[in-house]
Amino acid sequence: MEAVKATAEGVKAVNAKKVKAFGTEAATAPLNQLNIQRRKPTPHDVEIEILYCGVCHSDLHTARNEWHSTTYPCVPGHEIVGKVVSVGNHVTKFKAGDLAAVGCMVDSCRQCDYCKEGLEQYCEEGNTGTYNSPDKHLGTQTYGGYSESIVVDEAFVLRVPENLDLAATAPLLCAGITTYSPLKHWNVGPGKKVGVVGIGGLGHMAVKLAKAMGAEVIVFTTSPSKVEDAKRLGADDVVLSKDEEQMNRYAGKLHFVLDAVSAQHDINAYLNLLRVDGSLALVGAPEHPLPVAAFSLIPYRRSFAGSMIGGIAETQEMLDFCGKHNIVSDIEMINIQQINEAYERLLKGDVKYRFVIDMASLKNKHAEQAKNN
Ligand code: NAP
Ligand code: ZN
Ligand code: ZN
Repeated sequence: MEAVKATAEGVKAVNAKKVKAFGTEAATAPLNQLNIQRRKPTPHDVEIEILYCGVCHSDLHTARNEWHSTTYPCVPGHEIVGKVVSVGNHVTKFKAGDLAAVGCMVDSCRQCDYCKEGLEQYCEEGNTGTYNSPDKHLGTQTYGGYSESIVVDEAFVLRVPENLDLAATAPLLCAGITTYSPLKHWNVGPGKKVGVVGIGGLGHMAVKLAKAMGAEVIVFTTSPSKVEDAKRLGADDVVLSKDEEQMNRYAGKLHFVLDAVSAQHDINAYLNLLRVDGSLALVGAPEHPLPVAAFSLIPYRRSFAGSMIGGIAETQEMLDFCGKHNIVSDIEMINIQQINEAYERLLKGDVKYRFVIDMASLKNKHAEQAKNN
């Protein structure tokens, strides 16, 4: 199949091939097997056979149109690791057989001030998301990692540290960088008391990373079953956030709070934990607004902020940091045919701490069976 697209340089023909994927046709429909097109690698492209793909809560928000911006069909997945199968003739960083990874972005304008500073996620023209963004090559939407393979410009492909378990490395590509970037930005390190709120995929990575950066880490969870476990992850203390007395112990005590909660919650309860000049950064992206009381911010000159994933150079820095400190995600491996059930469990906070899809399951017979059931 050949797609034709008009570009600034004129009309360009792009070859594409059919690839198996798992996605959804509507906000209320389950994910099921479907076919998508992937472009044939252009000179700067790397073609990757996807071996593992993490399941981020953003996949669920997007598949169900909770952010009101989804174009269907939607193929989620932006925690991708795999093996390079072919490269374009100008590619210098990768060759066939190498391990490679792709995170939340596959392109950006590369010319604006933010792109030049390595902040491609904040590109003035908007970054090209790994899924649910306009595809500059094929004129369709971009499709994510719940698929057999992906073709990405080498500038947006990451190197995987050889010493880490490959499946458990996949979640670093979103959960890892999304927590690493704000922890670095707000100077988390020795002498700093840091709160992590919501111990899911992102939160558990934040605990491991903040500990490795040398901070004292306090976990805030709604799940009694995570209290002991959070200590195993490295937390110095764990607070059951529904217990007001436990919460009061840390009122006005923390330098920084990273909030990775995916649903409605009282943000004021966490702003009140900050010291004078402390900051709370939201990485969690609930569907509805979070009301903030003026007096949660004013008396302590507190800052309420947000942070989105991380740039490409910073993502590589994070992967290398994880390689050096032997940090990976705690994962539960699933087959792609279990994805709808996994979404339901994710909504209940019932995963320790990241589902990772073994993409080999997309190739086996069960995929066809699930489709026919
Ligand atoms: P996740 O694995 O589902 O974890 C979310 C955690 O939030 C849960 O484990 C739970 O932790 C807590 N939680 C859930 N419902 C709650 C409720 N009603 N009240 C209080 N706490 C609740 O999700 P994730 O993949 O880590 O993603 C977290 C959020 O970050 C999502 O909204 C996602 O879209 C967003 N995200 C943002 C970026 C970015 O660039 N900013 C990137 C990736 C993801 P406890 O059991 O410990 O309470
Ligand atoms: Zn994500
Ligand atoms: Zn840009």
